[in-house]
Amino acid sequence: MVDTISHDVLIIGSGLAGLRAAISAAATDRNISIAVISKVQVMRSHSVSAEGGTAAVLYEEEGDNQESHIYDTIKGSDFLADQDVAERLVKSMPYEIYQLDHWGMPWSRRKDGRIAQRKFGGYSFPRATFAQDKVGFYEMQTLYDTCLKYDNIHFYNEWFCTSILRDSSFQGVTAIEIKSGDFMAFKAPAGIICTGGAGRIYSFSTYAFSSTPDGLDMAFRAGLAMKDMEFVQFHPTGIMPSGILITEGARGEGGYLINNKGERFMQKYAPGKMELAPRDVVSRSMIKEINEGRGFKHETGFDCLKLDLTHLGAERIKEVLAGIREIGIKFSGIDIIDEPIEVRPVCHYMMGGIHTNVDGATELPGLWAAGEAACNSTHGANRLGANSTSECIVWGRITGELAAKHAASHKSRAVSLPEQQIAEEEKRIYDGIFRGAGDVNPYEIRKAMTDTMDERAYVFRNEENLAAALKKVRELKGTMWKHVEDKAKEYNTNFINVMEIDSMLRTAEVVLVGALNRRESRGAHARTDYPVRDDVNFLRHTLAYHTPDGPKLAWHPVTFTRYAPVERKY
Ligand SMILES: Cc1cc2nc3c(=O)[nH]c(=O)nc-3n(C[C@H](O)[C@H](O)[C@H](O)COP(=O)(O)OP(=O)(O)OC[C@H]3O[C@@H](n4cnc5c(N)ncnc54)[C@H](O)[C@@H]3O)c2cc1C
Repeated sequence: MVDTISHDVLIIGSGLAGLRAAISAAATDRNISIAVISKVQVMRSHSVSAEGGTAAVLYEEEGDNQESHIYDTIKGSDFLADQDVAERLVKSMPYEIYQLDHWGMPWSRRKDGRIAQRKFGGYSFPRATFAQDKVGFYEMQTLYDTCLKYDNIHFYNEWFCTSILRDSSFQGVTAIEIKSGDFMAFKAPAGIICTGGAGRIYSFSTYAFSSTPDGLDMAFRAGLAMKDMEFVQFHPTGIMPSGILITEGARGEGGYLINNKGERFMQKYAPGKMELAPRDVVSRSMIKEINEGRGFKHETGFDCLKLDLTHLGAERIKEVLAGIREIGIKFSGIDIIDEPIEVRPVCHYMMGGIHTNVDGATELPGLWAAGEAACNSTHGANRLGANSTSECIVWGRITGELAAKHAASHKSRAVSLPEQQIAEEEKRIYDGIFRGAGDVNPYEIRKAMTDTMDERAYVFRNEENLAAALKKVRELKGTMWKHVEDKAKEYNTNFINVMEIDSMLRTAEVVLVGALNRRESRGAHARTDYPVRDDVNFLRHTLAYHTPDGPKLAWHPVTFTRYAPVERKY
């Protein structure tokens, strides 16, 4: 029997969603104990790298209004967002911005001393609330500081969760303490999955290396649906050659995109919004420019375009874009004050995730999901920039409160852990992976998979490429690769990586099956063989369920409360 740690609420993940959920749960009920379990140290969660802003309507007296934020979000989503969810996001956000302010968030200020907001793509008003170009770092620090004020929040840093324990409701998780290598079970009547996005299934990616889909895969293997996984966001400005992000705030501050003729080519594609059209529109325009020969050659072999910020002037750049200036100098050898920087669309966000309802509840009673790991359908087929940190904060708060209440009312539920499941999980990871029989290098498998995703499931997709990618990923999955070279018990990152790769392959398969099945172009999913949006057949969410033979798909309706779909023009 493995050792067991008991709490009332388990929060898996310590990014923005996890920390906001922890504060909310702790504040809802001081008498429950909350565990925040994270495979990395708190301040290494990917949320720390959010750069540009957090969306909210703050200045109605200056002309902004919530209805417009709701509409921009729905239009940005190509009408696949659930409209009640978009409404909840928008209505909840102003409070959260001021709440963060009261907890010590150093928001950038306007000259009149009020909180500053900048323009972001797809919005009708400047709504991206920022702290220089390091918004995630400051938000994380503010939330972490606030967590430390509650003695009922317990952090388990560098613990790797491997599976969900369940009967007809949530019972807990299994996890490995990375430092000691001990395998244990956590037990609680309530849980929240906040394990972030899965963008490392691509090679050219803005994500931290830890952004692998192990949390999604845990839910998938536990019988829960993944929703809308085919919608992957490609951000227009990943720098060459690394893919590190240049925030959309750079264009929000007035930056231009130029082709090799020196033209601001967005004039052709989105004359109304230019460089501040939504990301899917800008990324497609960039790839068209490149495909038609108007890109810049780059030594990597990938053509690119340039982002010109030189006209903003050194003073403004140093004041509000200092972080990306440093990134440009260190990783591209270019000072954005003096010259345009080379960029190309890069994997940046997963609109899909664990299927939840408007409250963040999953299909399993007692289990919620929040943040990028969840798909409550705020963003539909394409997220607007700055709406993700907002989503993390809003559904962190909502799910934290609901999980705390659920835990308090189910405290007496004798959660006796399912020994059989724990034993099977131990067998899966120790016999199947740690002492696995593979001889192919797992890191080669990962590279082959992420390169395949880059090549064949990028900004533009078609049947031939997607089918070839699926074949390749299935071949890789079927190869004898699952083994761990390093046999150490303590701090075995090789073992952790191999478990991550295992989940990456299953998730890539879900993305590809969903993309093949969606024979239309909507938001970030652009099919050259089905270039038109097809509301008759595809105005619905994709659900994918795990089976031993691969994902099984189903459909789920979109919630309409306010706006009928119209053609999207910018
Ligand atoms: C470079 C970059 C810049 C961005 N800029 C912005 C921006 O300006 N505005 C905006 O709105 N959005 C932005 N985004 C998107 C946004 O930052 C993310 O969607 C959001 O921060 C995700 O937060 P999260 O809490 O869901 O998860 P994350 O912050 O990704 O954290 C995931 C957590 O889960 C834990 N975890 C994962 N797997 C396991 C496991 N198996 N066991 C235990 N723990 C696990 C990790 O340790 C981590 O703590 C940006 C994203 C990137 C990559």
